[in-house]
Amino acid sequence: MQKLLFVLAFLSVNGLFSQQLESAELEALASKFTKASFPMYRDLLSIPSDANYPEDIELNVQWCENAFQSRNFSTTRIKTDYVPLLLAERKAKSAQKTVLIYLQLDGQPVDSTKWFQESPWVPALKQQNEKGDWEQIPWENIENYEDDWRVFARAASDAKGPVAMFLASLDAIESLKIEPNFNMKVIMDFEEELGSPHLPQAVKDNSDLLSADMLIILDGPVHNSNKPTLVFGARGIAQMQLTTYGPIVPQHSGHYGNYAPNPALRLSKLLASMKDDDGRVTIPGFYDGVHIDEATEKILKSVPDDETEIKNRLKIVKPDKVGSYYQEAIQYPSLNILGMESGWVREQTRTIVPSDAIAELDMRLVQGSDPQRLIGLVQKHIEAQGFHVIDKEPTDEERMKYDKIVTFTHKVFYHSFQTDFNTEVGQWLQRAYNRAYEVDPIRIRMGGGSIPISPFVTTLGIPAVLVTTVNSDNNQHSPNENLRLGNYRNGVKAMIAFLTEAL
Ligand SMILES: [Zn+2]
Repeated sequence: MQKLLFVLAFLSVNGLFSQQLESAELEALASKFTKASFPMYRDLLSIPSDANYPEDIELNVQWCENAFQSRNFSTTRIKTDYVPLLLAERKAKSAQKTVLIYLQLDGQPVDSTKWFQESPWVPALKQQNEKGDWEQIPWENIENYEDDWRVFARAASDAKGPVAMFLASLDAIESLKIEPNFNMKVIMDFEEELGSPHLPQAVKDNSDLLSADMLIILDGPVHNSNKPTLVFGARGIAQMQLTTYGPIVPQHSGHYGNYAPNPALRLSKLLASMKDDDGRVTIPGFYDGVHIDEATEKILKSVPDDETEIKNRLKIVKPDKVGSYYQEAIQYPSLNILGMESGWVREQTRTIVPSDAIAELDMRLVQGSDPQRLIGLVQKHIEAQGFHVIDKEPTDEERMKYDKIVTFTHKVFYHSFQTDFNTEVGQWLQRAYNRAYEVDPIRIRMGGGSIPISPFVTTLGIPAVLVTTVNSDNNQHSPNENLRLGNYRNGVKAMIAFLTEAL
């Protein structure tokens, strides 16, 4: 009898764990802890976090140490050559699995003159007026917030918002004395906006400390429709710089036009030779290794993109034809001109033949295509156009020997990652989302943007999925970054849902 009672008690605890919090209960709990967490969110946003200022970053690290230690996590600073990473760990009693959770705390640099508020580091609560302008209202009104109100501050969405949501969700389950049935390792990155240059090495040096069964990333916007979204991959990124040369110093365009070759024209022709009029790369082999089978196509087409809206928002008539629709387009590597410079323009215009021309290019990387191979293809293509390719500025001797010279340099920042929908982490999150929202989440196979996750995926050998929360029109990286408060509460709800979903 006693044994039976024990079993019944065990069952009811388990039942309480995974089933008691149905959608409406999750919603009520999320509402309560959303409001309770606003002072904490405001406090966190008030600490400047541009990673170019390590003394500011130190304050953010300390804030996180306090926040996690006070929630019964043990914390470890992982040293790098610059600012540290922070690891916070909490074990669960009956845990079989460990989930690694990635948070990012630093924000992009700010130009305060472009922000319509006191400072990007003084959070402002705003509501939209009839004309569509955002008007500041007293912070205290947040007690009775409306979903469409927004908090404006640097890192509001990218990505201190998700940090505050996660802490709020921990407080929410603590209030019900619920413990996740998995161990948590929270890894905090304080230089993501600088490209996380020290992360790959730190993951390699601390692979035991960071070992886990799966990784979830609490970062990034939901789909444009603002519906709950899981993202199963992200493109990687590499950059290239190309410089072409004309006369050693700019020459008078009257005296030397028709005589001194123009480097801007040479660079333009070279770049133009890389793509056709539909925006497809013409270099043979560039798209090799990417296969979209029927099953993948079904996944891609299940994303409810409104391409008329996208084109209208971007004010473009005809998109490039790398893919026949948006989701398909971003499954392929891209070759994109970031910027070009030669001579002077606008009121600075000078009547000269410029001495050089520079183009910065980026390549967004996908699974199945090795970045070094792609860079090699681009280099070979440049050579095939009759250029002598070097990796430094040419010497006078080189200039006198070769008619056409290109200085070509490149850097691979990090590779892409892509996780199958049916992996354990994918199914676990899907179950949590189904319970929270009672509909399937939007599942995106590959997000177009890049995040430094591949070092974890490749070094630790674990699958990764992004739990996205913030509104897609949040002005991330730009002035007047913001977070919609309805998205904040929905994010807290999603996080409570996975914390209470058995693994
Ligand atoms: Zn960012």
